[in-house]
Amino acid sequence: SVRVRFAPSPTGFMHVGNARTALFNYLFARHNGGKFVLRVEDTDLERHSEEAVNVIYEALKWMGINWDEGPDVGGPYGPYRQSERLDIYREYIEKLKERGLVYECYCTPEELEEMRKKQLERGEPPRYTGKCRNLTEEEREKLKAEGRKPVLRFKVPEDQEIVFNDLIKGEIRINSRQLGGDFVIVRSNGMPVYNFVVVIDDALMKITHVIRGEDHISNTPKQILLYRALGFNPPQFAHLPMILGADRSKLSKRHGSTSVREFKEKGYLPEAFTNFLALLGWYPKDGKEILSMEELIERFDIRDVNSAPAVFDTTKLNWLNQVYIRNYDLDKLLDLVVPYLEKAGFDVSKFERDWLKKVLEVTREYFTVLSDAPKYIETFLKDEFEISDEAKEFLKENPERIKVIELFYEKLKKFDGELSQDSFKKLVKEVGKELKVKGKNLFMPVRIALTGKMSGVELPILVELLGKERTLRRIENTLN
Ligand code: GLU
Repeated sequence: SVRVRFAPSPTGFMHVGNARTALFNYLFARHNGGKFVLRVEDTDLERHSEEAVNVIYEALKWMGINWDEGPDVGGPYGPYRQSERLDIYREYIEKLKERGLVYECYCTPEELEEMRKKQLERGEPPRYTGKCRNLTEEEREKLKAEGRKPVLRFKVPEDQEIVFNDLIKGEIRINSRQLGGDFVIVRSNGMPVYNFVVVIDDALMKITHVIRGEDHISNTPKQILLYRALGFNPPQFAHLPMILGADRSKLSKRHGSTSVREFKEKGYLPEAFTNFLALLGWYPKDGKEILSMEELIERFDIRDVNSAPAVFDTTKLNWLNQVYIRNYDLDKLLDLVVPYLEKAGFDVSKFERDWLKKVLEVTREYFTVLSDAPKYIETFLKDEFEISDEAKEFLKENPERIKVIELFYEKLKKFDGELSQDSFKKLVKEVGKELKVKGKNLFMPVRIALTGKMSGVELPILVELLGKERTLRRIENTLN
């Protein structure tokens, strides 16, 4: 049965590319009734902080991705953190040594660089020449005595065809001669490298499909050689297309936000973000673009993933987010919006929850991201406000405009019914009739009296939600 894994390095942030890799693995596992494994690849890092691992958990959970096996939940093939698997790696290094498939290399970085330079001068592709492949015991002792610390290199077979059928890229064929010579599997500090440990882990964790970014495609032939050397069956491979920015260069910081946390903080809904990521390189056969996680799982087919690069289109992400915001459960949306209001300095506890929900209902269509919320909701919460210069100017231009405000105030004060959108419109109409003003000269003074601004939400909606008392108070503030 299908077993896939997501194997991030805890770098302290989750790049959108990694998030997409996680999602595709997850969709593939769930679509096929398989298992989704989380493995933390932390051997390359100097120090692996708990915080950096939590960043991974947090990002996945936010996206609605859960894992069947992993460092925190355990599982039958643990441990799931590479730093806890060093004994296992040592065992397999011994096996390779016994089989004479690896050797110690004492070349220093300076010597390797020298070698590379000469090759480039001769117009040859850089490769390790195999200088240390056949050292005698004596030579080795001598180099050791100089204080050199060896790396361990894997003997790449001379002239071997490596062929694999990538589920996305199709057949890939490469000759072992093109791999740059014998490659390092253990560093001089004793730490095994990615290309080696990933093979051990994927084999021992019984991974059936390796789905990962295209940037790893050049590693795959080396890994296949290691599978063969260790007597393991290689899994199937699927390399996901790169993600490019709008200018068609590789997506990077220059293009704006690249980490999952940044998108979360800006106020993208997890469902919209996940939906968007799913469409980076994949497209459902039926063309339906707004898809819940269940619908994605139902439709996802790895064979439909495009091999051409995917473009990260922020306009599309924003559009999706708007669609999700408009259709989101109001209670859930309010819970997500409240922190943004609090951050903007509003004491949300002063307002009834049901009333806030109504406010959200009439304003949410204006948001692109949740961090837009305070800007639109502010008018409903703040009864004291500054009158903009533009608005002051407008009121001064014509004395009739103040009269409109005053008469509206009188009428509203006497009004004793339910202040609805309709009754508000009726009151304003009466004011217009009595003073013989209409259009902008009628509505704009009222707007300014109630908001201090020349534009904003529809007034009847605002007034209905404010109620009579708060509306009167606002006008008093403006007139004073
Ligand atoms: N730790 C590697 C990465 O984050 C995993 C690559 C793989 O999936 O094999 O790129």
